[in-house]
Amino acid sequence: MKFLNKVGEYTKDAIQAAKYIGQGMSVTFDHMRRRPITVQYPYEKLIPSERFRGRIHFEFDKCISCEVCVRVCPINLPVVDWTFNTEMKKKELKSYSIDFGVCIFCGNCVEYCPTNALSMTEEYDLSTFDRHELNFDSVALGRMPTKVTEDPFVKPIRELAYLPKGVIEGHEVPHTARRAGLRPEEIAEATSENK
Ligand code: SF4
Ligand code: SF4
Repeated sequence: MKFLNKVGEYTKDAIQAAKYIGQGMSVTFDHMRRRPITVQYPYEKLIPSERFRGRIHFEFDKCISCEVCVRVCPINLPVVDWTFNTEMKKKELKSYSIDFGVCIFCGNCVEYCPTNALSMTEEYDLSTFDRHELNFDSVALGRMPTKVTEDPFVKPIRELAYLPKGVIEGHEVPHTARRAGLRPEEIAEATSENK
């Protein structure tokens, strides 16, 4: 009786194991039919979405040294160095810097700057060997990054969010192709037609 019980348990385990192997193999076979969607970075780069929060751009001439950006920053990060010009009776900006080794790219400073001196760019590859190099002064902050779509050394690939319905392979769609979904003016037009 004991022997028969053991045989029964063994058969049950063997069936369970075969089921797990079958499940694993079905995933493997499913992936064998798919094409690789690897992006060959840095020769290929994904086009960041419109609201991507990348490295901050700063316009020195627009800054009025109000320090709103410092107050709204969760970590009081931007360093605004200014002097008071007694002749003109106004603040004069001397230097401005943001350390991207510390910044969390929340975008508060950009949102609340009263003169729009700050803006988000699509630059995301900020890696350096020395973290102190990430402390950008006003000159470094004033540089505009090369757009992925305009860089002659890079092949721009459409992000999944930009691909037409049913397409999952960004390599097949040229970056100049129409983006997925309706544009705001098209949505407004469709809404007014439905009224
Ligand atoms: S909020 Fe804008 S204008 Fe004010 S100090 Fe910051 S960058 Fe300059
Ligand atoms: S993006 Fe956020 S964390 Fe970075 S400097 Fe601006 S407010 Fe501070």
